[in-house]
Amino acid sequence: MFTPFPGSDVARSRRWAQSSLQALRALERSEGPSAGVRFGPFREYCYRQPGARPFADLSCEHAAPVVPQGFAAVLDSDRPHIDTTQHLAWLERRVGLLGGRMVHERITSLAALFERGHEIVVNCAGVGARALAGDPLVRAMRGIVLHTRPVPGLARSLHDDAPGNVVTYVFIYDDHLVLGSTYEQDAWDERIDQGQLQAIIDRCRKLACVDGCPNWRDLGAEILDRRVGLRPARGQTGVTEDVRLEIEHAGAGRTIVHNYGHGRSGVSLAWGTAEEAADLVSAVARGTARPD
Ligand SMILES: Cc1cc2nc3c(=O)[nH]c(=O)nc-3n(C[C@H](O)[C@H](O)[C@H](O)COP(=O)(O)OP(=O)(O)OC[C@H]3O[C@@H](n4cnc5c(N)ncnc54)[C@H](O)[C@@H]3O)c2cc1C
Repeated sequence: MFTPFPGSDVARSRRWAQSSLQALRALERSEGPSAGVRFGPFREYCYRQPGARPFADLSCEHAAPVVPQGFAAVLDSDRPHIDTTQHLAWLERRVGLLGGRMVHERITSLAALFERGHEIVVNCAGVGARALAGDPLVRAMRGIVLHTRPVPGLARSLHDDAPGNVVTYVFIYDDHLVLGSTYEQDAWDERIDQGQLQAIIDRCRKLACVDGCPNWRDLGAEILDRRVGLRPARGQTGVTEDVRLEIEHAGAGRTIVHNYGHGRSGVSLAWGTAEEAADLVSAVARGTARPD
């Protein structure tokens, strides 16, 4: 889901969010469902009065007419729904069409890649960047989601702003719903806990009920998939999306372009940060990159 969070440089995060949004809009128009991108209605139930929302205008966010008891605000918007089961496969096909080659291999050191003759390495290793780039600011933030059979009568995708390490959401895709999630800082264990899954289903049913879905009791009745992942959080003092996107000179004719630390926002910011990373690579290749 397009849910960008700002890092410590809000203006830069906003540029990435904006160009991602443009790219996703263009993809929806040009590729149709094959790229897995579809814009659709999204409603956020806020237990507290929302603070500054630096990206609200990007998705035409506005107050919903009715605020149910127990909530401080309800916000409606129109957002890209990115079905990663489709989108990642589409991206992989695109790499091939553009002449790229996928190689599956565990990299133990970035320096070793230069010894193979590469001159520019782009480091997009997510939580793996903690070890590869020796960056202690990178931390795992485990999340769990379920894919379930759609239920009739669900009017829009739903989200809440519950404090702590759980947020409830129900995202609508063509052939499944995504129910989530947990936000577990420094949890590196990728096993799935059944109790957490049931708690997610219970919370999603309550949220769908609040939203007036007549079939809220059926939500999560048929589970299609269970997924766990480690969000690559990065930052200090409460910031978890401090993306590192910069050049590191690693010796004569050796350049690393770092692009990691997207935390909860990697799907939302990927096109924007990739565009900037590609510009940095081009500048290095042309010899016009700014020195550190
Ligand atoms: C449950 C869950 C729900 C989420 N929902 C959303 C959402 O709604 N919207 C949103 O914007 N974001 C969401 N995110 C966050 C988003 O998935 C991440 O921000 C994004 O995946 C980060 O992308 P990345 O390519 O930087 O890192 P990753 O997706 O982690 O990819 C890094 C890749 O590098 C590889 N790698 C790492 N180390 C090495 C190594 N040493 N050698 C070789 N390969 C290596 C890994 O295997 C992996 O393939 C969610 C995450 C989770 C877990």
